[in-house]
Amino acid sequence: MHKKLFIPGPVEVREDVLKQMSRPMIGHRGKEASELQRRISDNLRKVFYTDSEILLSTTSGSGLMEGAIRSCTLKKAAVFSVGAFGNRWYDMALNNNVPADKFESTWGKALKAEEIDKTLATGKYDLIAITHNETSTGVMNPIEEIAEVIKKYPEVVFCVDTVSSAGGTKIEVDKLGIDICITSTQKALGLPPGLSICTFSEKAKERAEKVQFRGTYLDLLALYKYIQKKNYQYPSTPSISHMFALDYQLNYILNEEGLENRFKRHIDMAEIVREWAEEYFEVFPEKGCWSNTLTNIKNTRGIDVGALNKELGNRGLQISNGYGKLKDQTFRIAHMADCTVEDVKNLLENINDILSLK
Ligand SMILES: *Cc1c(COP(=O)(O)O)cnc(C)c1O
Repeated sequence: MHKKLFIPGPVEVREDVLKQMSRPMIGHRGKEASELQRRISDNLRKVFYTDSEILLSTTSGSGLMEGAIRSCTLKKAAVFSVGAFGNRWYDMALNNNVPADKFESTWGKALKAEEIDKTLATGKYDLIAITHNETSTGVMNPIEEIAEVIKKYPEVVFCVDTVSSAGGTKIEVDKLGIDICITSTQKALGLPPGLSICTFSEKAKERAEKVQFRGTYLDLLALYKYIQKKNYQYPSTPSISHMFALDYQLNYILNEEGLENRFKRHIDMAEIVREWAEEYFEVFPEKGCWSNTLTNIKNTRGIDVGALNKELGNRGLQISNGYGKLKDQTFRIAHMADCTVEDVKNLLENINDILSLK
């Protein structure tokens, strides 16, 4: 039996979106391929509220995260981590010989704009990398406040991991002054895994031009230049199947559901799960920074999450345990992509039934 996924990626994908993945191939050097990529880019600019160029990469989100920190750090990167994915960004810097310092907060806490301000004021850094929605802890960082502070430092390239929030929450890239905003297909956008996406500002481009060793496959400047020179094509062979599905899904998001409705639906689902979590358990992160796309729940009743998931599986449903060191202390319910309020209510009713809650 197929299990409906309430895990924070990959997510449940609609049948009609899956069908797009099985369309016949087209050549990647023809006019049709250029038109496809151009249409995807134009529509993604709407999702990200930006005029910046859009880059695609046939990697999962981690690919463009690695590409960003390597392609655009000249002096030193400041990585602000509030969990596992922030830590991953720092490891990517180290493994690429990119100078970087890590500033790590306690898991469950949000970033503090003042700390970022203090750090950047030292003048030591020319790139900052933050996680918008930390999937390991369920924290959604206060991006507006943070962006206000970063605007004081025009020499700093501002990179944001929005892998588990873009497409589910409003992220106004140009208004926030984000230079590189990264996501992947298998989370709130509601597609299969295998493609990553980022915005790429003029400032990011100018920085990359000064960086000597940017790698090859994940060189963001190379991706950018190819788009300009070859009229929206990709330097190597892209995942054309993902592009068909993304093109189709962007049309659905923008013209059928509507962005504002989509964001509202995510908030509605989040509120239902939080209310349930507060009644029977506790929400793990500190108040005021709860994610709109997933809820991380403290296992205050000491339930056997594995056993719960097994029984949910018998009923065609799946949630997620805690991430890494939180494995047994928390469990996570994702409410993102094309999941509905009814789906979420049905899931919670099943959990109540299995655990005899009420
Ligand atoms: C899933 C996730 C990633 C990793 O993305 P991949 O597409 O799996 O490479 C990075 N950051 C966050 C916040 C995520 O949720």
